[in-house]
Formats: sequence, structure tokens, C-alpha cells
Amino acid sequence: RAKQQGRNIFHVFDSRFDRELQAREEQRRRFQRAITDNELRLHYQPQVDMLDGRVIGLEALVRWQHPERGLLPPGAFLPLIEGSSLDDRLGEWVLEAALQQLEAWGQEGVNLPINVNISPSHLLSEDFVERLTLMLSRHPEVPVTRLKLEILESTALSDLPAALETMRRCQELGIDFAIDDFGTGYSSLTHMRQLPVDLIKIDQSFVRDMLDDPGDLAIVESVIFMANRFKRPMLAEGVETIEHARRLLALGCTQAQGYGIAKPMPSNDLPAWLSEWSERHDWTALAMQVMP
Ligand code: C2E
Ligand code: MG
Ligand code: MG
Ligand code: MG
Repeated sequence: RAKQQGRNIFHVFDSRFDRELQAREEQRRRFQRAITDNELRLHYQPQVDMLDGRVIGLEALVRWQHPERGLLPPGAFLPLIEGSSLDDRLGEWVLEAALQQLEAWGQEGVNLPINVNISPSHLLSEDFVERLTLMLSRHPEVPVTRLKLEILESTALSDLPAALETMRRCQELGIDFAIDDFGTGYSSLTHMRQLPVDLIKIDQSFVRDMLDDPGDLAIVESVIFMANRFKRPMLAEGVETIEHARRLLALGCTQAQGYGIAKPMPSNDLPAWLSEWSERHDWTALAMQVMP
């Protein structure tokens, strides 16, 4: 009887497992169709220098405009495709869309760089640099330095020699790297020294709560201290209020990104935001209030 029962349990388990696999496959096919049917969008979140209020760049953040479910954030679909071939396909779509946007903005006289998030498997894929070079060559009017790449610490961690080689070759093309979500991985100290990155982005979770949580504040302070020691520029994510901004400036971090400055927006909303921003004197005059 026990044996019989055991077999049944396996049976139930097997078919549930099958169903889950099938559902996943179906979802992936649906996402693949989202790419070909042009349902993906890029939203852009400004990055500013708090010393003078200058806008220094924009981070491209992908969204899925789903016909039934509405606008989906990356958290709703990235886990589904992580590690599959769709991951590279999404990455290529995002790079191409960012280059097209840079081209369009160039014609309108908006000359801000775009930061694109690159997934670990995409960066470490065999022909990443070749394909990127090809894409860049299709947009000769876009200065290469206007494209910047954001990678996670864990990306480099999974295959350091390969990551370093790819980064070196991209930098030869003129492309800067930012290390994203800094502080959430481990052995951050070593990476700060080893990785040829041009910007360190302090993870939003620490910044967001730093005004109330002494532990988070300690991490933010330590990252700022280390980045200054290693002479690396840094940017704080998750700057939700002007109080965050004041505190960060006092600690020695001048670049910021967060809801307090702007939420990610469609490219069409950018011109209006840019002119609004230049009128926000509370933010643009921050440095004079904080610095002696
Ligand atoms: P990330 O690269 O660290 O991007 C910052 C995330 O923080 C964005 O979430 C942004 O909307 C959110 N954020 C910005 N400021 C604030 C703030 O002040 N408060 C709070 N609470 N949140 C803030 P989003 O757009 O949902 O993206 C989540 C993550 O998905 C990104 O984190 C990035 O790792 C990934 N992602 C987004 N777009 C792409 C993409 O095109 N390719 C890849 N591979 N990953 C992407
Ligand atoms: Mg990012
Ligand atoms: Mg981040
Ligand atoms: Mg993140």
C-alpha cells in the first residue's frame, strides 16, 4: 500500500511539474511575441548632479505594455526569461531601442547619455561585443560615448576574466560602465578596486531607508567613503526626498536618481520634465544650502 501511495504521490507531483513547465513555456512564447509585436517600451529616469542641478543622463528601464494586463514592470517578466535565450533577445531589443532614441534626441538637440541595463548572460554571451559593434555601426550619427552600460556586481562575479575582457573591449569602443545595486553583492571591496567601472550606483534599498535605519546609513556612508578612496564617481539610487539629497551631499555623494527627482517616464514626457526641473529651485540650489 505504501508503495502504491508513493507512486501516486510521484504521479501527482509529475503532472503538476509538467503543468508548471508547460505554463512557463507558454509564458515565454507569449513574451517572445511581445518582442515581435512591439509591445515593449523603454521608460527613462533622469540622473542629476545635486551640486548644480544639472541633468547628467537617463536610465532606460524596460516595460511591457500588455494588451490585457496593462503596463508591466520588469519584475513581472524578467524572472521568467532569466537565463533563457529570450534574455539575449530582450537585451538586443533594449540596446536597439536606446540607440534609436539617442538618434531621435540628437536630432532634437537633446544630448544626454542613456544608461542601459545589461543582464549577466547577455554581457557574458560569446559575441556580445561583435553584436554591439554592429548595432553601433547602424547608428553612425550617435556618439558611442552616449551609450553607457549598467551591470550587476554578480555579473562580474560569475566569470571574472570573461567579464573583464568584455568590459575592456567595450571601453576601447568608448563605452562607460556603471556597477548597479552596489552593496547588495558580496566582496564589494575587492570589486571596487578590480572592476574598471566609471560609476558606482549605491543600491536604492539602502538609500531609501538611510534616514530612519542606522544600518542602512552605515552602508551608504561606507560605500561613499570607499568610492572616494578609490576615486570612483558614485550615484545614489532611491533618492525619494530632498532630505535624502541634503544628507547625501553632506556625505560627499553628488549624483542622484530617484522618485524625488523624477519617476521613470516615456520619452515623450522628457522635454516637459526638463523645463519643469530647471524651475525647481529647491533642488537646483541644494548645494548652496548644504555646502558652506
Ligand atoms: P535598477 O537597474 O536598479 O533600476 C532602478 C529601479 O529602481 C527601477 O525599477 C526604478 O523605477 C526604481 N526606482 C528608481 N528610483 C526609485 C525611488 O526613489 N524609490 C523606489 N522605491 N524605487 C526607485 P524598475 O524599472 O522596476 O526596474 C527594476 C529592475 O529591473 C532594474 O533595477 C533592473 O535591474 C531591471 N531592468 C530594468 N530594465 C531592464 C532592462 O532593459 N534590461 C535588464 N536586463 N534589466 C532591466
Ligand atoms: Mg540599473
Ligand atoms: Mg539599481
Ligand atoms: Mg535593482
